[in-house]
Amino acid sequence: METEIRRVLYIYALQNAVKHGNVPNAKAVMGKVLGAHPELRPHAKDIPALLAGVLDEVADLPAESWQAKLQEIAPELVAEMNEVRKETKKELPPLEGAENGVVMRFAPNPSGPLHLGHARAAFLNDAYVKRYGGRYVLRIEDTDPRRVDPEAYEMVQEDIRNLGLGITDIVYQSDRMEIYYDLCRQLIELGGAYVCTCDAERFRELKIAKTACPCRSHTVEENLDLWDQMLAEKFAEGQVTVRVKTDLTHPDPAMRDFSIFRIVDSPAHPRIDARVYPLMNFSVVADDHLLGITHVIRGKDHIANTRRQQYIYDYFGWKAPVYRHYGRMGIEGVVLSTSSMREGINAGTYTGWDDIHLGTLRAIARRGIEPEAVKEAVLDIGIGETDISFSWENLYAKNKAIVDPSSDRFFFVPEPVRVTVEDAPAQTAEVPLYPGNEARGVRKLAFESVVVLPKVEVAGAGMIRLKDLFNIEMRGEGQAVYAGDDLAAARAAKAPIVQWLPEGAGIPCTVLTPEGTLTGLCEAAVARYAGKTVQFERVGFVRIDRADETGVVGYFSHR
Ligand code: GLU
Repeated sequence: METEIRRVLYIYALQNAVKHGNVPNAKAVMGKVLGAHPELRPHAKDIPALLAGVLDEVADLPAESWQAKLQEIAPELVAEMNEVRKETKKELPPLEGAENGVVMRFAPNPSGPLHLGHARAAFLNDAYVKRYGGRYVLRIEDTDPRRVDPEAYEMVQEDIRNLGLGITDIVYQSDRMEIYYDLCRQLIELGGAYVCTCDAERFRELKIAKTACPCRSHTVEENLDLWDQMLAEKFAEGQVTVRVKTDLTHPDPAMRDFSIFRIVDSPAHPRIDARVYPLMNFSVVADDHLLGITHVIRGKDHIANTRRQQYIYDYFGWKAPVYRHYGRMGIEGVVLSTSSMREGINAGTYTGWDDIHLGTLRAIARRGIEPEAVKEAVLDIGIGETDISFSWENLYAKNKAIVDPSSDRFFFVPEPVRVTVEDAPAQTAEVPLYPGNEARGVRKLAFESVVVLPKVEVAGAGMIRLKDLFNIEMRGEGQAVYAGDDLAAARAAKAPIVQWLPEGAGIPCTVLTPEGTLTGLCEAAVARYAGKTVQFERVGFVRIDRADETGVVGYFSHR
């Protein structure tokens, strides 16, 4: 009977692990088992003890092998899960009018490298272009010289290459100034815009009072004359602006005669010689129209812009693209504001744009998170209008599924403590680089008599199992005795299974985590993994950032 119960428990523990991409949860497994196998209910009191051992066994298997193992011993459960998955698989909703292909765009400002918020816009638009076919324009929105960082042009391109977006065209707005100037002239001629020389504060008061300013009654000729003077640099910054004639009684003051051009004297633009700049609502409409953009997916924070932009479409008689505005996405635990990031970097608080405390894509990549995982995580979030908070857990689960199969396993001993083990047979442990796939080979750890162990594990007395070696019994500081090879005995004694290294075999290793730094020793072979992810058993996945004669430095990814 006991073997039968164990078999059932094992199957459901595996299923739970496969389903959640994580070590199985005892409660959930217990519930599932008793539900599916009522005949086991009379044995309910024996189950927890059996289950504990089963859960350990499953947890010791590499996550990658769970699904295959389940398929082997209980294919019907895999089939059942696939059914459920099909029903709940999150798919992006269709876009109206997209059947014959789309033209979409990703339009970042080159003010810094891309961060997680950008990734959402970038991947959602990308997914639709891939689904419907068409073109995907990268539009660099650099018509505000105050928000241009000359280095960001290259950083943005690099980030986009790393994401693997299917960009088909690249457009720089700063190359298109003459186009915007011509269109402004046309809008003035259509009676849709006027040049306003009112003091900004005065205009604001009039606007709040729903009252026209004197400039609103300029004739087209007067406006064209003022516009020419603007272009001829007859005005200084702050003295003049071009406004769209909207509705002065509009309930939202932000809609009332908003600005579309202004003068910026400094800083100078890094790419062009200009002083008259379009504001985003104008350049975005001009380009969305001229580039034939069919669908725009952007955040809810642009809804007011969409409303403003409609006035410009109407004056020109152009058809606006189809818009979707997704909800806000809170991202906890990292810095996202470009200006705070820049200040912190300048002040030396952060080491650079890829500091682990930042939410930039390069910081996340440095932590070993693959672009594909970011993509899956933001596509899961989708284009819903509800505000949500970004799930790091989901990102980590996606990443784990990607990196686990290629990550070799190694021992890392944080805060190492030297322990002499008496009466133990000298031997060489052969530990698989990847349990469950012997073809990947083994690491050899030669035990003589002294090991180093993680400080936290040797604090108390009692039995400890040195992973893949044998059991020891602690006998006071730095002293232990051999306590046999039996894994079952260690389990029965609830002995912690710890990583160890033969004395002198490790190299210094520093693991940076957002919560702090772990220092210790790791296997010497890890020095050959710079740029790759390894799994430090019982610690988690770590991307090895660099290795030199002083040791290795890794960035913690997730458990
Ligand atoms: N450049 C704008 C931004 O990064 C996007 C403009 C748009 O989506 O229309 O917020």
